Amino acid sequence: MGDRFAHQGKAQLQACALATKLGADVVPVWNKSNREHLFIGTEPSSLRAEADAAVKALGWQKPYHVDADHIRLETVDRFIAPSDFFTIDVADSIGKATDPKDVKAFVDRHPELTGKISIPHINHPLDISGAEVERVANKFLLAVQDAGKIYRHIAKAKGEVNFITEVSMDETDSPQTPHELLIILAALADEKIPLQTIAPKFTGRFNKGVDYVGDLQQFEKEFNEDLAVIAFAIQKYGLPPSLKLSVHSGSDKFSIYEPMRKALKKFNAGLHLKTAGTTWLEELIGLAEAGGDGLDMAKEIYAYAIQHVDEFCEPYKTVIDIDKRRLPSAALVNGWNSQQFVSALRHDQKNPEYNPSFRQLLHVSFKVAAKKGERYLNALKKHETVIAKNVTTNLFERHLKPLLLGN
Ligand SMILES: [Zn+2]
Repeated sequence: MGDRFAHQGKAQLQACALATKLGADVVPVWNKSNREHLFIGTEPSSLRAEADAAVKALGWQKPYHVDADHIRLETVDRFIAPSDFFTIDVADSIGKATDPKDVKAFVDRHPELTGKISIPHINHPLDISGAEVERVANKFLLAVQDAGKIYRHIAKAKGEVNFITEVSMDETDSPQTPHELLIILAALADEKIPLQTIAPKFTGRFNKGVDYVGDLQQFEKEFNEDLAVIAFAIQKYGLPPSLKLSVHSGSDKFSIYEPMRKALKKFNAGLHLKTAGTTWLEELIGLAEAGGDGLDMAKEIYAYAIQHVDEFCEPYKTVIDIDKRRLPSAALVNGWNSQQFVSALRHDQKNPEYNPSFRQLLHVSFKVAAKKGERYLNALKKHETVIAKNVTTNLFERHLKPLLLGN
């Protein structure tokens, strides 16, 4: 759960409490990336303070964690004290040249990766040639070595048993296939990383704050095969039994929650799902729903965003699909009442007024709210009740329930 402005911790945890009551096994993890801290001007310790306060306020008894999201060696240090979950992002090193000696040593160390490999729950045995093992090692080994360096850096400062390690490879061009995942897991085990979650790039588009776009059947097949590969690699390479897949940009992907729920049940597996920006949109929905100065604030943010579409969208161009013809003018939106603004923004695909382009533009426009500083934070405080209701309902009804409990 990401919470850009650090005011929704209790409302988010309330969603976890509701799901727990219905029998789901939920471990809340609050995340905030280095990029978000820089945009908003916050320190990682503020996320720890927020998480601890929410846990105390609600009397949450189960585990919870604070994630240093998408960190690298250059950015990790200020996260080490307040975080106990580290998403080590090595996507930038994928495809960069690895020392040929290291590639050869890897291939020699892993003769079991070449040839036919029977994996329970995958219909046909994987059949990987020696040349393919070498190609995959060439492409990923440097990234894996980087992950090892960053892991050891954190472990030295924090103590090995005091944190959870995730390795993320999602922010890259092409999805990783199940057999690539197997080779990557073998290499991560060689680095002695006690890997608890891994974020591959999946097939299809995971746009910010909107539904999955892609071939659903293909996704389901790959997701099941990835789970099969993980179960196999846990046995084969002694990785932690709790190793999970991690789905980044995982909020609002309503069409894949059902296939994921079935697959998780089949494999008796867990999942790490990142749902960062969806909460900031619920803040806006709550402000709009409150009417008066709340609605005015939401309109003001949109008016600024529509003037800066290209600037705001540029850093996110691989994770949004905005149809500019569908973006209403600021003048039009200024004439809207609460219901019109909320209908356009809330992720309710059954509502004909729902506008995914409007929603995605606002998703990437949180910097506008950050610039408003105290004025925005005061609006959050003033309209806390209506905002909290939206934040909790979104996470509980639209995310946790379909993913973990079924509708
Ligand atoms: Zn990510």
